[in-house]
Formats: sequence, C-alpha cells, structure tokens
Amino acid sequence: MSTTLRKKRAADAAAAAGVDALLVTHLPDVRYLSGFTGSSAALILTNGVHRRAVLFTDGRYTAQARAEAAGTRVVIAPKPMQAACGWLLKSRVKHCGFDASQTTVASLSAMRKAVAEAAKASKAKSSKPKFVAVKPLVARLREIKDPEEIQRMRAAAAMGCMLFDRMLAYMQPGMTEMAVAAELEHAARLAGAEGMSFQTIVASGIRSSMPHGHASSAKLPRRGFVTLDFGVVLEGYCSDMTRTIHLGPASAAERHAYDAVLEAQEAGVAAVRAGVSVGDVDEAARSVLRRAKLDKWFTHSTGHGVGLEIHEAPRLAAKATERLEAGMVVTIEPGVYLPGKFGLRIEDTVVVTRTGCEILTPSPKAWIEL
Ligand code: ZN
Ligand code: ZN
Repeated sequence: MSTTLRKKRAADAAAAAGVDALLVTHLPDVRYLSGFTGSSAALILTNGVHRRAVLFTDGRYTAQARAEAAGTRVVIAPKPMQAACGWLLKSRVKHCGFDASQTTVASLSAMRKAVAEAAKASKAKSSKPKFVAVKPLVARLREIKDPEEIQRMRAAAAMGCMLFDRMLAYMQPGMTEMAVAAELEHAARLAGAEGMSFQTIVASGIRSSMPHGHASSAKLPRRGFVTLDFGVVLEGYCSDMTRTIHLGPASAAERHAYDAVLEAQEAGVAAVRAGVSVGDVDEAARSVLRRAKLDKWFTHSTGHGVGLEIHEAPRLAAKATERLEAGMVVTIEPGVYLPGKFGLRIEDTVVVTRTGCEILTPSPKAWIEL
C-alpha cells in the first residue's frame, strides 16, 4: 500500500474522530505513513478540502527525509515540534488530534507552549489550535498488514528459523548464555539483519523460569531447558519466535510441562481465524494448561501483534474482546514458569487469514534433546 493511501486513511480516521488535523510523533507511525526513518520527526495530516501532509524534521535529516518521504512535504527546522505547532496555528487548524498513548505529559505541555508562543509572535489574530486526545488511530491501521508488509515479515521470520537451526548445532553445555546470544546475533547481522527486534533472550536451567531472562554469564547446564526467544529486523519489520530445547535427559515433570505447553501452543494456533476474538484464542491455549494443572504458572498473555514494532496491537490477552482480522500478524506464545525450578515457552508468529492462519515460523516444535 502506498504511503499516499496510508495518509488518506489516517486523515479519514482523524476526521471520523472529530478533529481537523492529526499530529503524529510516534516514530514507527511516522515511518508507516511517510516512509521517513529518522529519529526526529513530527508529521501533520489535515483533512477537509485541502488535505495536506507535512513532515517536520531537523537539519541532520535534510537529504534522508526528502529521499524517504517522497510524496510528503518536508520542512527542516532546528526544533521540528515547535515548527509543527507554528504551522498548525498558521494553517488555522482548530482541533488537532494527538495519540494520548504515545504522548507524554511533558510533550503535551511543550506543544501547548509552542502554540502559545507562535500565537504571541504572530500579528494575525487567528485562534489557537486545541489539542485533542484521540485513540491510537495509526496503530489501528497498522494492525492489518498489506501483502508487501507480510512479505517482509515472512522474510524476517524465515531468517529467524534459519538462525534457530544454526543454534541447534552450536549450543553445548558449559558455554555461557551470552556466548549463545553473541553467536546468534553475529550470524543474524551476517545474514543481512538490520538489527535484533529486542534484546535476545537465552534462559537456561533455573533461569528458564524467568519469562524474560536476557542472556547472562550463566553457563548452559548439562541437564535442563534452554529457552531462546529472539527476532531480527529486516526492512524495518520485526520477527519473533521462541523455541525451548532440553540439554541432557529430562525429568518427568519437565517432559509433562513441555508436552502441555506444546499442546497449548498448537491449540492457540488452531484457534486463530478472522472473526475470532483474541480472548478466545488466549482461552484455547490457557485451557490446555488448566487441564494439565499448570495454568497458574502461565503468567502472561498468549500473544501480541508484531510489525514495525515488536509489540503492537492487538494483545491476545485473557477475556479481551477485539476480533482478529485477516492480515493481522500475531504471536502465539504460551509458557509456564515454575519459580526456582524451570520454565519454557514456545512461540510462533502467524498471519491471520479468513480460514485460519499462515505460520511464518515453521521451525520444529517437537521435543528436542541435545
Ligand atoms: Zn518472542
Ligand atoms: Zn513475542
């Protein structure tokens, strides 16, 4: 989908929310709407007869903004946000929407101050724009990926699967979790990843009972789980997958937990289809763990949207009512974490379709003992 169409959709959403302009400052939203990837940006979209889109950034990004945001007017200013607020006043915008979930109290007060200062400096006595908190309109648009975005996510996920294969051949008892993460990330960069989607999780032995155990100096044990949760960024899009393997022979409790989490994960994937509520997908996974008497150790939600950011809407949480739609890309990642003992998680990223889903991360999930 072209950025022109995305900007039009966002402006339409702003109009439906009752504002005549939208100020977008969350950088992934700016990127989605304009193509600009710089770290300093404010984008204004106006609706009404004269639809306009203006991107404000600073002098470091003159060339980059013009190249990336072709089709959007670019204004270079030392203080982009102040310039954007001045532009709102000059353009006689009455109500400017902003995403309350992405705007700090400090930014809002800076926006109001900038408008007041611009009004004081201006000779014309136009009325000041009012800032109106609106829902995350751009995040909502970003939930549904177009075919080009899905293609990029497919490529990122495929790289993740390739890296997992490599790690199976690499991991050995006695090496540190950090060495595992370093090897994984080094291989990712050599394969063309722009970076990692998030800090790589390598959690082994007792540390596997921490859902977000970042790679530490702990050594992989002779016997125990190793959970690898990682993702790469390719052309701006994140991948996300988790696999848990076992080093050495497992105890009955470990095996029972693994089988239950795998069954829960597969039940979650099987429940995914356009029209199903995210709470029902969560329940499909959670009920399997309940039957296995492990649900009290499943301490997070079943999944989340992925895209330009690693965590996006929708959240697949217990009792949540949002409905899945074709083109959403979400993770299914139940896990159990027994404090002081062990933990494990299995995670796939899937694209929601009319009849089910396409799994982007087909790495094996059956029990692996190294
Ligand atoms: Zn993950
Ligand atoms: Zn995830």
